[in-house]
Amino acid sequence: MTAERIHTILLGNTRTYLIPGRDGFLLIDGGHRVWGNWFFRCLAKIGVPPHQIRLAVITHVHFDHVGTLQAVKNCCGCKVAVHSSEAALLSSGRVVIPPGTLFPARLVKWMTGRLEKMTSRFCTFEPAVPDVLVSTPISLEKHGFNARIIPTPGHTIGSLSVLTSVGNAFVGDIAVNMPILGGQRYTSPFGYSARAMTASMENLIKEGARYFYPAHGRPFDATAWLAQTRD
Ligand SMILES: [Zn+2]
Ligand SMILES: [Zn+2]
Repeated sequence: MTAERIHTILLGNTRTYLIPGRDGFLLIDGGHRVWGNWFFRCLAKIGVPPHQIRLAVITHVHFDHVGTLQAVKNCCGCKVAVHSSEAALLSSGRVVIPPGTLFPARLVKWMTGRLEKMTSRFCTFEPAVPDVLVSTPISLEKHGFNARIIPTPGHTIGSLSVLTSVGNAFVGDIAVNMPILGGQRYTSPFGYSARAMTASMENLIKEGARYFYPAHGRPFDATAWLAQTRD
């Protein structure tokens, strides 16, 4: 792990991260909506006042990544960055369940289609209007962070990652580090293209990523990921 004091706030199954900058913090993702109060309790516990969050980068608009976002925006007054292709999903609160890349995940997708009413009730989130729309790599220097946002498609077409200058990459759901539905280690069983997720991870390594912070599971280093994908 490289030198950068990252705070992790676990919201159920989703890890959110706070990255320090010149004058505050960059937040990666929000969790499911039920974790709003818990998020603010955790912030208080680690000693970060809400107004210190300057920018929230949403890796993609799935309910387990944006549920607390409007509450965070209201309380922290931070800007929200999202891929331009997912801005309408965020501002309308539209729930999307991703397709599966493996059979068990495809089955889950099929079942959520059958049980639409139940799924949409569990997966709803409060809409939030984004402030920064991203469709190409951008520097976050003007927001006070030595980091870039890099589009990393695969889990969704508009998936984004944040890569800091010391090589920490916050990758949302293009990689995971927990067994989900029998998938290979580090491989997300959900997404529109497993190949695109792999290509996005390779691109991050080419851009300088040394350590990965997924939204689901513990961080891992690039050499472990490379060893796994070459097996
Ligand atoms: Zn997702
Ligand atoms: Zn997720």
